[in-house]
Amino acid sequence: MEEIKISKIIRSKRKTIALVLTHDATLVIRAPLKTPVDYLEKLVNEKRAWIRTKLLEIKSRPKLKAKEFVNGESFFCLGKSYKLKIVDSCGVDIELKDNLLLSLEKVPYARDVVITWYKSVAEKKIKERCEWYASLTGYKPLSIKITVAQKRWGSSGPKGTVNFSWRLIMAPLEIIDYVIVHELVHLEQRDHSRLFWDKVKSIMPDFKKRQKWLKDNERTLSI
Ligand SMILES: [Zn+2]
Repeated sequence: MEEIKISKIIRSKRKTIALVLTHDATLVIRAPLKTPVDYLEKLVNEKRAWIRTKLLEIKSRPKLKAKEFVNGESFFCLGKSYKLKIVDSCGVDIELKDNLLLSLEKVPYARDVVITWYKSVAEKKIKERCEWYASLTGYKPLSIKITVAQKRWGSSGPKGTVNFSWRLIMAPLEIIDYVIVHELVHLEQRDHSRLFWDKVKSIMPDFKKRQKWLKDNERTLSI
């Protein structure tokens, strides 16, 4: 059988070993500082059936295609797909109706215009949901920011700030809510311990389903 290649070993003060398969289907191992390489190789060999299944799953996920900003192209907002329609003028640069209307004169800057629009929707909607969950759970952030983060949907700072990537606004509301709850719980519980997940679950019993959706579809939430 074909051997499985370890792309990277990241050593740290952690106590356990984690096999991580990244979205581009490479195997990264997080391990305690002194774990011998042959031990890790042996582990990978033992887990090869599981790794192969996971790799196949990753490779079968929808492929990311860069947007061309042409008529009829689909753009997601809050999980709903809208077709881009280039119009002579819609009074503003861009407007969401039944379609996503983009002024003809803005076509050369379409990407920037669309991103600015996404950010403004995210500013309003994500902040509103976050405030609602903050009052529901009592985990109150000092500030809520919409960021340009590429690799993470959300993060929370030690000083009580929570941040969300504007890209999250492309996802369905229930998925946005999951990321919000995840980050709010981090305000009190910084790690991903059992206690952390128990708290997430107590607020959102079906969080696993939402987490899985995000993993399976994250590459479609891109422009
Ligand atoms: Zn987390």
